Amino acid sequence: MNIDWFAVECAANGTPMRLNTDERRMMVRRRPNLPEDELARRSFCTVRTIERDRADLADAEQQQCPLCGQTAWVIHTGIVEAHPDKLLQECPMSGQSVAPDWESQTAATVVWLSRRIRVGDSLGVWDYLTKLPVDQRTQLLMAALAGIPDVDDPFAWITEEVEQVA
Ligand SMILES: [Zn+2]
Repeated sequence: MNIDWFAVECAANGTPMRLNTDERRMMVRRRPNLPEDELARRSFCTVRTIERDRADLADAEQQQCPLCGQTAWVIHTGIVEAHPDKLLQECPMSGQSVAPDWESQTAATVVWLSRRIRVGDSLGVWDYLTKLPVDQRTQLLMAALAGIPDVDDPFAWITEEVEQVA
């Protein structure tokens, strides 16, 4: 799914936005109690489209994402629906099983933390890591090391960013 979570957030909070189908459905998911005509106004579509979105949304239970801690919907198949973390970046648990094996969970966590660092949330990542028990932190470090691709300069993105700022 290609979702601009910032746009979904704006529409869910009342600012009309042009949304694609996936984004519109995510807005509808987040506002179950709003009337269809209001949701249609916020996404520049017809009431009929919103009715269809409501009917098409899979039954899901709201719960806290085990990875990013934000509200997420778990579809009855046990798959976590796409959702953003608190920085409105798509959480790597999106589309994953709610009870993944240890390897998948660890890999998803490493990917999520790396994305957060890249969008400038180093302090948030620091906070997350320092609160983890030492053995879990070491497991993440091991997984992160194993995930470094065998290329000339895996940290080229750092110098690229510096060049952009300069
Ligand atoms: Zn999440």
